[in-house]
Amino acid sequence: MTRAVGGEPQQVSEVLEALTAPVPCVEDCGRVAEPFVFRVGEQEFRIPRAVCGPCGAVLEARRRHEEEERERAAAEVRIRRRLEMIPPRFADAELDHPQVERWVEGLLQGSTEGIYLMGERRTGKTTTVWAAWRAIAEAGWSGSLEAWRVPTLLDEMRGDAEAALEIVRRCQAAGLLFLDDLGAERPTEWGQERLYVIIDERYARVRPVLVTGNLTLDQLAGHVGDRSASRLIEMCGIVRFAGSRGQPTIRSIHTGSGQPQLPGRNAP
Ligand SMILES: [Zn+2]
Repeated sequence: MTRAVGGEPQQVSEVLEALTAPVPCVEDCGRVAEPFVFRVGEQEFRIPRAVCGPCGAVLEARRRHEEEERERAAAEVRIRRRLEMIPPRFADAELDHPQVERWVEGLLQGSTEGIYLMGERRTGKTTTVWAAWRAIAEAGWSGSLEAWRVPTLLDEMRGDAEAALEIVRRCQAAGLLFLDDLGAERPTEWGQERLYVIIDERYARVRPVLVTGNLTLDQLAGHVGDRSASRLIEMCGIVRFAGSRGQPTIRSIHTGSGQPQLPGRNAP
C-alpha cells in the first residue's frame, strides 16, 4: 500500500501501471511509446519507453551507423600507424615471396601457424618481413602486432623488472609477434629463459610468430635452448632464404605437423 497525493489509498500495482502507461513519443511523431513488457514466470514486468517502435528503429539504425563509422575511423588510424612503423629503407618492400605470401593469406583467414625465415644475412629476410608487415597492416588485420629484434628485446628486459614483465606480457599476448634476428643475441641462460617464457606461452595459446634468423635447425637448440627450439619448430613452417638479397631461393619447406605445405591451415 502507498498513499496517493490526494490522500486516497492506492495499490502499488496501480502506481506502476500509471508509471508505465503509454506516453507520447519524445520524437514528436504523433505516436505513443508503449512500455516494454516481459514475463518471468507468473510475474509481468513493464519498462517504460520514451520512443515509439518506428522511431526506436530509426534511432537504433543511426546508433549502429555511428558505431560502424567509429570502427572504420579507428581501423584507418590503426592501418596508418602500422604503416608508419615500417623503416624508410623498407617502405616500398613488396611481398613477392610465394610461401610468405601464402602464410600472410592464411593468417588473415585465421590460421595460427607461425613462420620461420631462415638464412644468412643479406638474403632478403628483413625486406620480406616488412613486406609481410605491410600486407597484414593494409588488410586491416584486427589482431595486435608486436615486433622486436631479439637482441634489443633482451637488452630492454635487463633493466627495470616491472618494465621487463610488461614487455614479456605484450610479447605473449600479441595477436602476432615478430621476432627478428633470432641468433644475433649473445646466448645466455638468462636470455634463453626469457625467450622461452614468451615462446612457451604463445605455443600454449596457439598464437602465431614470425621469426627470422640465420641459425640452421641444427644450431637453433644450441643457441636458444632445446625447449624454445622444439616449440618453434612445432609452431612454424620453415622457409630457407639463400642467394643474393631480394632473390630468395626456397630450398626446403618443413612444418612441425609433418605437412608438406606452409600455412593456409585455418583455425576453427
Ligand atoms: Zn515516434
